[in-house]
Amino acid sequence: MNPLDRITLTGLRAFAHHGVLEFERTDGQTFVIDVTVHLALSDAAAGDDLAQTVHYGVLADQVVAAVERDPVDLIETVAERVAVTVHKPDAPIAVPFADVSVTILRGRLDVPRAGEVAVIALGSNLGDREHTLVAALEELDAVDGVSVVSSSPLIETIALRPAGADPDAPRYVNAVALIRTTLAPEQLLDVLHAIESAHGRERAERWGDRTLDLDIVSYGELEQQTERLTLPHPRAHERDFVLRPWLAVDPDAALPGRGPVAELLARLDAGSPQPPHPEHSDGAA
Ligand code: ATP
Ligand code: CA
Ligand code: CA
Ligand code: CA
Repeated sequence: MNPLDRITLTGLRAFAHHGVLEFERTDGQTFVIDVTVHLALSDAAAGDDLAQTVHYGVLADQVVAAVERDPVDLIETVAERVAVTVHKPDAPIAVPFADVSVTILRGRLDVPRAGEVAVIALGSNLGDREHTLVAALEELDAVDGVSVVSSSPLIETIALRPAGADPDAPRYVNAVALIRTTLAPEQLLDVLHAIESAHGRERAERWGDRTLDLDIVSYGELEQQTERLTLPHPRAHERDFVLRPWLAVDPDAALPGRGPVAELLARLDAGSPQPPHPEHSDGAA
């Protein structure tokens, strides 16, 4: 079993009265819940039997009961490292989406609307990779002027070196998080660098092994190129390990100047090159 496998329960149904609108509260509606439990490396090492670690049936019952009570209870109810997505397929909205979903990250439902939405890519290929990424998200959320809105499942990927993919190098764990921030982009970069440093990040060689890498994939619709900070991230559009988790956390995501993430990923999967940016040439770097 891949030690980064996760248990995902999809399509659990619960009937409840949550919502901001009057009739949602009086009439109630169906909630459809997806739950992802990330297994720690130690759990996987202990044996191949997933049922030993988490009992699906018990988890499902607990999640449905928690949603019917109060979605905020969810995170207390289930395991610590769990991502829960609650869909409201009958939600009263006049937009052409199949449903409305909100990913609850460790109990956070109170994210302020102020500031810009920014997309952060996380990576680690040294140490307790999963733990580092989860800790980094908590530290990021704890910063004044930053709120983590949601985070993708963790994925494991082969290390990329300047010479290409290296199957012999320690593998990465990657994720993407959506944040809201009132910080300026450069301030946000400083915050990310401070969190990296706190986790022992060292910069020796280009694309060398690291305990933690935090990149700004995008900051609102901003496009800029300064010595310290290029936005969007100049290589995000060609990176599977960025686009795939980003799409998982936001199916409608688009990269400023490049277009929908779903299309960028489809071209990568097909082995087709990405079209050049309309306004600047893509360097080899
Ligand atoms: P890559 O940028 O290809 O992902 P890397 O993450 O390994 O490589 P680092 O050594 O972490 O590269 O960062 C080098 C510098 O890149 C940082 O000090 C920062 O000033 C600059 N940088 C420019 N644009 C960004 C961005 N969008 N996000 C993060 N860092 C950026
Ligand atoms: Ca905060
Ligand atoms: Ca990087
Ligand atoms: Ca970086």
